[in-house]
Amino acid sequence: MRLRGADQVADLVTAARDGSPRAVARLISLVEDGSPALREVMAALAPHTGHAQVVGLTGAPGVGKSTTTNALVAELRRQHRRVGVLAVDPSSPFSGGALLGDRIRMSDHATDDGVFIRSMASRGHLGGLAWSTPQAVRVLDAAGFDIVLIETVGVGQSEVEIAALADTTLVLLAPGMGDGIQAAKAGILEIGDVYVVNKADRDGASQVSRDLRGMLSLADRREGAWRPPIVKTIAQDGTGLPEVAAAIGHHHDWLVVTGELAARRTRRAREEIEAIALEVLRGRWGSVGRTDEVSALAAAVAAGTSDPYSAADRLLGG
Ligand code: GDP
Repeated sequence: MRLRGADQVADLVTAARDGSPRAVARLISLVEDGSPALREVMAALAPHTGHAQVVGLTGAPGVGKSTTTNALVAELRRQHRRVGVLAVDPSSPFSGGALLGDRIRMSDHATDDGVFIRSMASRGHLGGLAWSTPQAVRVLDAAGFDIVLIETVGVGQSEVEIAALADTTLVLLAPGMGDGIQAAKAGILEIGDVYVVNKADRDGASQVSRDLRGMLSLADRREGAWRPPIVKTIAQDGTGLPEVAAAIGHHHDWLVVTGELAARRTRRAREEIEAIALEVLRGRWGSVGRTDEVSALAAAVAAGTSDPYSAADRLLGG
């Protein structure tokens, strides 16, 4: 996508803030493409950000993440909150914009301009989703969405990264998936702000909930620390979703009162800056005339005529 001049960026940003889904979609495409226009876009968006509550949703495949996202969106819409959803698949380099799951999900909220749903893909971008997701969140935030849900659609590994992007992290579990043990292994006992035991209509949901409560009670929590609630849901029919929405609201209040919201956001901004700085450096090394230099340095280090620290110094200094 080509954009010329500041006017087009300003127009897009204005249109997105006026609620144009098309403008929001175009801005997110610029993020995915790593467009050079992003500098201007982010500068134009910055004064309008900081309002949205960013909620991450994670859990093993099959626990009901997309069903829960859908039901949560419906619940939040009942409360007249505008909701943006980013479905991120860290394991896939392909754009999921046209995936079947997306279309099915979209169909529930297709005529509702208070909902924007988008799959994010890294498209082989070096910084990947860790780089692009926070920028897509900025787009939705500036476009006036009250809540931005980030749902992981991929497998494993990504939970902790998603937690780093969100103000509030929901961890989903379900009976029949050996989640008790898995939970401890994957480290999700540390990252959840709200635990959702989905498929409460199935045998074993109460057991999962009890096991989880037992494990969470072992955690060493300071006085005044947040105690993650456990909410049982049947995502398919919306049971328990008002309680999930309430828990998200309580956590947000706690974040504000304790100053933890500002602390988390500052931490996040720091990571964003570092990711962008690294991108800029990588871009410089890949620029015309410098790839030869990097190759020569690599050959020298491989041959033992230089060491990697000196080579890195040369790269950074030059
Ligand atoms: P994801 O892989 O975590 O996104 O899981 P999905 O949302 O795709 O759900 C996986 C399967 O579980 C689907 O067949 C859903 O219909 C089903 N499912 C989701 N929520 C519930 C629930 O509350 N109860 C039952 N029995 N099945 C559910």
